[in-house]
Amino acid sequence: MQAMVLTKIGKPLQEQEIDLPVLKANELLVKIAVCGVCRTDLHVFDGELADPKLPLILGHEIVGHVEQMGSNVSQFKIGDLIGIPWLGHTCGKCFYCVSKQENLCDKAEFTGYTRNGGYAQYTAAEENYCFALPNKYDPVSMAPLLCAGLIGWRSYKLAGNFKRLGMYGFGVAAHILTQIACHQNKEVYAFTKDGDIKGQDFAKKIGAVWAGGSSQTPSIELDAAIIFAPVGDLVLTALKQLRKGGSIVCGGIHMSDIPPVPYKYLWGERIIRSVANLTRDDALEFMDIAKKIDLYVEAQAYPLAQANQALSDFKAGKTKGAAVLTV
Ligand SMILES: [Zn+2]
Ligand SMILES: [Zn+2]
Repeated sequence: MQAMVLTKIGKPLQEQEIDLPVLKANELLVKIAVCGVCRTDLHVFDGELADPKLPLILGHEIVGHVEQMGSNVSQFKIGDLIGIPWLGHTCGKCFYCVSKQENLCDKAEFTGYTRNGGYAQYTAAEENYCFALPNKYDPVSMAPLLCAGLIGWRSYKLAGNFKRLGMYGFGVAAHILTQIACHQNKEVYAFTKDGDIKGQDFAKKIGAVWAGGSSQTPSIELDAAIIFAPVGDLVLTALKQLRKGGSIVCGGIHMSDIPPVPYKYLWGERIIRSVANLTRDDALEFMDIAKKIDLYVEAQAYPLAQANQALSDFKAGKTKGAAVLTV
C-alpha cells in the first residue's frame, strides 16, 4: 500500500510502498477514504511530542470503510463507513480506565503517534475504538470532526456551566464548536490573531456574537474560555477576562510556557485546566450531536502524496479551514 511515512523527526514524510498491516483478532482493516491533518500531527512532526513510534504513519482523523475483519470482530461488517480517532487502545485495568477516565490511561495507544495512522491507503484499528459514522457528511467534511470535533467537544464540556464562552485560536475546533454553542443558545466570543480580519468575519458569519484580536477586550466578562492556540501567554490574557468561578480550558496537546500568573487573577475560584485526549463516551456524544445538527466544516482537500505540502500550509495558516488528505 502507499503510505506517507515519518522516518525521522525533522525530515519530510517519505512516500513509500509498504505491506498491508497484519490484523489482530480484534482489529479491522480499513480502506481509508480521507484523513484529516490535525495540529497534533504538526507537534509530532516537529518533535514537540516525546517518543513517537518511528517509523510512523501520522493521522488520527480517519474516515474509511471496513475492508477485512479479525476473527473476534463483532460490531462491524465489511463495507461499513467508520471513523478512527486519536484514542486507539486503553488497558481497561488501570486506575483511570476503571474510573471513567480512560483518556488518561497509563498504557493508552494513540493513532498516528504510538500506532500507525491514516496518511496511507489502509490502516488497522481495534474495533472497540472505531465509530460508525453518519452518512450525511461528505468524507472531507467528516474527517475534522474526528479530532477537532471530538476533543473540542470534551473541552467544551469541561468548560463547565457557561453562557458566554471565549475561544482563543479560532481554527477548526472553534468553528465546529461555535455552531454547537449557538444551537445551545450560548454566546461565543472569538479571539483570533490580532489583525486577522478575515478570521473574525468568518467567526461572526458562523455565529460568534463578538470577534476580535486576542489583545482586544470585549466589554463583558467571560464565563469560560477554551484556548486552542498553542500559546501559553493566552492563558493569562483569558484569565483577565474571566468572571469569578469561571474556567479556562487549554484544549491542545502542546503549549508554550504559561507566564507567571499574579494570584489576584486566579483568586475568586477561577480554574485553569487542560484537556487530554478523549474517551469513547465523548465520541459517542459528539457523533450524536453531529447527526442532529448540520455542522458546516470548512476544509481543503489535498491528495495523499501531497501530505508534506498540507502540513506546511496548515502550519503557515494558509489552508482554508482544515486540511484533509484524500486517498
Ligand atoms: Zn488504562
Ligand atoms: Zn488531533
